[in-house]
Formats: sequence, C-alpha cells, structure tokens
Amino acid sequence: MNSQAVAAAVSAATSHVEHTERATRPPLQRTTVGMISLGCAKNLVDAEIMLGSVLQRGMEITSRPEDADVVVVNTCGFIDSAKEESIEAILEAHQQRGLNRRPHQRLIVSGCMSQRFARELRKELPEVDAFIGLDQVTELGRIIEELLGKHSTRNVQRPTPNGENDEADLAFADTRPTYIPDYDTPRFRLTPAHFGYVKIAEGCNHPCSFCVIPQMRGKHRSRPPESVLAEIRALVRDGVREINLISQDTTYYGMDLWSRKAGPRQPIDSTRGSTLAALLREIQQIEGEFWVRLLYTHPAHWSDELIETIAQCDKVARYVDIPLQHIDDSVLRRMLRETSRAHIENVIHKLRAGIPSLTLRTTFIVGFPGETDAEFANLLEFIRRTRFERLGIFKYSQEGGSRAAKMPGQISAKIKNARYRAAMSVQQQSNSFGAGSLAAAATICWLRGRSIFPRVLKLASDKPTIFDQLIPRLICFPHGKPKRAK
Ligand code: SF4
Repeated sequence: MNSQAVAAAVSAATSHVEHTERATRPPLQRTTVGMISLGCAKNLVDAEIMLGSVLQRGMEITSRPEDADVVVVNTCGFIDSAKEESIEAILEAHQQRGLNRRPHQRLIVSGCMSQRFARELRKELPEVDAFIGLDQVTELGRIIEELLGKHSTRNVQRPTPNGENDEADLAFADTRPTYIPDYDTPRFRLTPAHFGYVKIAEGCNHPCSFCVIPQMRGKHRSRPPESVLAEIRALVRDGVREINLISQDTTYYGMDLWSRKAGPRQPIDSTRGSTLAALLREIQQIEGEFWVRLLYTHPAHWSDELIETIAQCDKVARYVDIPLQHIDDSVLRRMLRETSRAHIENVIHKLRAGIPSLTLRTTFIVGFPGETDAEFANLLEFIRRTRFERLGIFKYSQEGGSRAAKMPGQISAKIKNARYRAAMSVQQQSNSFGAGSLAAAATICWLRGRSIFPRVLKLASDKPTIFDQLIPRLICFPHGKPKRAK
C-alpha cells in the first residue's frame, strides 16, 4: 500500500468523524494529527494503533496534513527503495510545513526505519522533532502531548545539531521490540468497511540471509488465541466481511507459546500447543458472514493438518500466500530459507490436491548473490511448470546489516533487470489464466458493506490491493456508472 492509498483511506475514514465532530466541537481548539503511512499491512496496523492512541487522548485526526498541529510519517525500512521513499516523505512533510507557514507544526517519524536507524536519522534529519520506536505505537498520543508541552513530564526537545538531549528518547533503538497488540487496544481502522487486518503475531525467528526484518521487528511473539478471536468477533459485529490474518510468518503462529521449543522447520502440529490450524478451527465457529485470508505463510511449517483444516473450514478463503523466494537448492541454502526444492514441491502438490479451487500466490527474488545462469534457469523452469495463479518478482536488494549483503558474487543491476523481465515474461506466458484462477473465479463472494457502500464484489483469489482502498470512495449503482462519493 502506498502513501496515497493511506491518505485516501484516512480521508474516507475521517470524513465521518469530522462531520459529526464539527457539530459538537467545543470552542477550544483541539490538537489535530495527520499521518502518512508507508509500507506493508503490518505497518498499516501500527498506524491504526497510533491513531487509536491519539483519539484516546482527545485529539483529532485530519486527512489534511497542512492543517495538522502534528504530522506523523510512519516509515518502511524493508529495502533501499522503501527507505528512499520514506525519507522523501519526511522531507516533503517538512517542506510543506514551511510552504504552509506552520512553523509550529511538529514532525514525528515512526515505523520500521525509525526503529532501526533512529540515531543515524536524528543526525541526518534535524528537521524531525521526535523519532518513536515500534514498542511505542500505543503511546503516540502521550508523546504528542509531551512534544507540544502539555502535561509535560519529560520534555522531548527539538534536537540540537550535535544530538544533545536526545539519547534518552532514542533508547528504543538499542533494543529489539517486544510489543504485540491485544483485542482491546484502541485502534482507528484505516481500511474500508468491508475488510480489515488482524495481526496475529509480530516479529520473526527465521534467519533468511537477505532479510533485516527480524532486526527491526524482533523475535516472533504470538498473541493468545482468545485475543485474536475476540478481535475477529468484534470486527464481524462491526460489519467486516474479509479479515486478513497477518504477521511476518503466519504459519509459525502459536509455536512460540509451546512449552517445548519448536524448531525452525517445525510442521504445524496442534498436539503440541497453539497453532494456526487450531486458530482457524476456532474462527470457523464464529457466527456471521465473513471469510479470513492467510497472508505471509512460510513453506517450512505447512503440514497435512493445516491443509486439511483449510479444506474443512469454509470461512477460510481458498487463497494461500506462500513466499518461496527461490527454488534452486543451492540458492535456498545460501538464503538460509530452511526449506528445499523437494519440500516445496511436496507442499505445493499437497496444497493443490487437498484444497480444491485454491489460488496460490508466491514471490521470488532474482539476482541473489552468486545466482548462476543455471540456478536462474531452474527458477524459470519451476515457474513455467507450476503455473502459480499469482506471482511477484523482486530484484535482490543488498541490505546493510544482512548476511547476504556481505556475500561475494553480488550481481549487477543490469543482470537483475534482465532476470526480472525474463521471470515476469515466463509467468505471463504460463498463467494466462491458471487452472486455480478459473476455479477461484467461481468462488465469488458478495460482501455486504455498510451505509454508502452496500455491495462489494471480491474474489477469493485476490488479496487486498490499492483498489480496495479506492472502493469506499465510490457509490455503486446497479445500472449505472460508479460515482465518486462526496
Ligand atoms: S521469514 Fe525470512 S524473509 Fe520473512 S520476515 Fe522472516 S527472516 Fe524475513
């Protein structure tokens, strides 16, 4: 999701709040907060929690950053291009502050990039008034009060050029986050009425050599099943029809709660404790017209139990997101993916045999250090043969702090680009409309929304996209063109 999508969502979601509050607003001006959120759905949930804490403190949310007393840029630090986009958003917010003659407007930076690089960024970006970490998402309201000097217990100063006064504020940058939300954590949903995200766990225990997410988001920690179920019940009561279960690795859900430690390749096994399969069976018991969708599963943990559970639970969408990253055994070993070609092929075979009408979505990385022509050819052949219904290709990004960044055999941008184009072309040729897609197209769900948005057509085969963000801005008439909502 990009910042425009989030801005659209904020706009749609706040219009109702602004309308009702304008009539009752006391004469005393309240603090207004604007937010620009970048990155993935996990970051979006953090943004929702931050806005929840702002509302809890009696502040207002605005979709017009130029009117805000405080602008928050919720950053992504996944790869270099995401960091660049985040820095551009920060600088643009600062520039707008000058252009709009709001010298007293405060600028706060949160999210993954702030968590990982707060100290460096404070030196590079003195324009920023405060950096906050991932463990502080519920405290945004309090931090803003301190920043604005109200109810001050600790003065969060505008930084001095040499970084004095800042060290205490940046203590979070020295530790890995441990926070995980609960069902009753105040939250301001930014998604349209018909769908929402539920973060069932946070952090990751895998050691993938190209990835720095565990350094930013910390160790895997699952929410208790009761907490997840209570949140889903509340969303269903609220009219949400599609609930996307997210975390860094949804298939590891619950295993960190086991009394006997689970290994990195542990298959899902409910005889040992809480698992994703057991959670899905509980979700199936919740009354109401809705489905859940599984995002970000790891191939190492798939088991017969999970496949059978999905097949038996009609409230689980016939859609599986399973990032595989590569198929060649040598590359998988260098990636430290804790899987092998044989294991992946077996899982895919069982998934398709066990869950009729399944849509499989995956992602691969091309141009990983040392990837030879033969290893890349293996990947192309696998894509051609497997005919994924949905597939994304990433060009390898050399991330400072990752093991792969120090590996020999870094591949040139030219070769990465050529491999990217070749992989996309093979996917387009081999999946003009895959078998799973055809079947999934038959699995259409009319999701009844609320108020101005009575009906949304969703396919089980499609995860939320930017299009979902635009939908609530449209009023659909059965026999006419969609019109923009005012
Ligand atoms: S599974 Fe691997 S790629 Fe995914 S978040 Fe964990 S370490 Fe990163």
